[in-house]
Amino acid sequence: MPALAPPSKILVTGGTGYIGSWVIHFLLEQGFKVRAAVRSIEKAEPLKEQFEGKGELEFFVVEDFIKEGAFDSAAAGVDGVVHLASPLTAKSDDPDDFIKPAVGGTMNLVKAAALPGSTVKRFVFTSSTATVSRTLDTPKVFDESDWSVDPELVEKQGRSAPWMVKYRASKTLAEKAARAYVDENAAGNFDLVVLNPPFVFGPPLIRSLPVGTSVDWWFGAVIKGTQTDPGVMASAVSYVDVRDVAQAHVLSLTRPEAGGERIILAAGATSWQEAVEFVGSLEDTAPLKEEKTKGLPDIERVPYLVRYNSEKSKRVLGLEYRKHEDTIRDMITELSERGF
Ligand code: NDP
Repeated sequence: MPALAPPSKILVTGGTGYIGSWVIHFLLEQGFKVRAAVRSIEKAEPLKEQFEGKGELEFFVVEDFIKEGAFDSAAAGVDGVVHLASPLTAKSDDPDDFIKPAVGGTMNLVKAAALPGSTVKRFVFTSSTATVSRTLDTPKVFDESDWSVDPELVEKQGRSAPWMVKYRASKTLAEKAARAYVDENAAGNFDLVVLNPPFVFGPPLIRSLPVGTSVDWWFGAVIKGTQTDPGVMASAVSYVDVRDVAQAHVLSLTRPEAGGERIILAAGATSWQEAVEFVGSLEDTAPLKEEKTKGLPDIERVPYLVRYNSEKSKRVLGLEYRKHEDTIRDMITELSERGF
């Protein structure tokens, strides 16, 4: 199917989130029309304020993303879909807190895009490197041919599985279900592009919204020193800038060669301890209220067990990743201005 160009209309879910707000920013900046699916009209307010006068943005309330047929009306008449909405936290230890919204929301959207008469030509699904890697004893560079084994772990461990495993399982199941449905029912109607970022860092866009789970984590581990497990502090953290991820979503709509692809988006890797030391080495960063931690400087430095090959993103999307220093500086500046 053909790729899209402005002024096509794109249905975006997750626009009230950290990455989604940047996706809407770049779509409008490039002249796309955006229909944002939000859970309530109140949730649209920060977006309305942020993007006032910056392009054609409309809202569609979908109260419950997992109700059957939830997106049938929202997806009518759009040319493309960008699906970001998915829970990063849960209320209870029930794996379904992650899995049902992740899989149910995705499948409702994919099915809506595949309805007879649908005008959708491209569907971009925000997955994660959580669907790509698994824990090994020896270092490995993962690529798009790899898959996580977290669904099997959740099946074995149930409620006692760590929350991260449940999250990873939810993303894996959602991505696999979307790909299988499109291959069987919608090939020839629209192309599915799956994007797989690792930890996303960089400045949150909308001041009246929370900073986002991954920025919260970064702030805890790298500035406040809340992470005290030496194994975690020494282990690999792959990262990518939120603005690069958002631009990759737009490129996934506009690049013909992206159609049907699964694409890892990773700028590099560090460890939490190295991230602490990197921030400590930066001069002239904006002031933060919190005194910066030194982390656990005496821990044993070990090779990164997990890394990602992101060559495909450069080749297929033409993506050029920002320097890590710019990501971190800009994020600190924004957090400082928010009073952190
Ligand atoms: P945020 O938590 O900032 O935003 C999550 C978005 O999803 C919000 O718009 C939220 O809507 C919506 N959402 C959450 N749960 C539900 C639900 N049950 N039903 C409907 N909507 C829901 O997350 P990010 O922007 O960081 O993440 C966006 C996507 O990127 C997710 O799919 C995530 O898995 C993926 N990702 C994120 C990474 C990161 O490091 N941040 C890394 C890799 C992938 P509302 O405002 O209504 O709550």
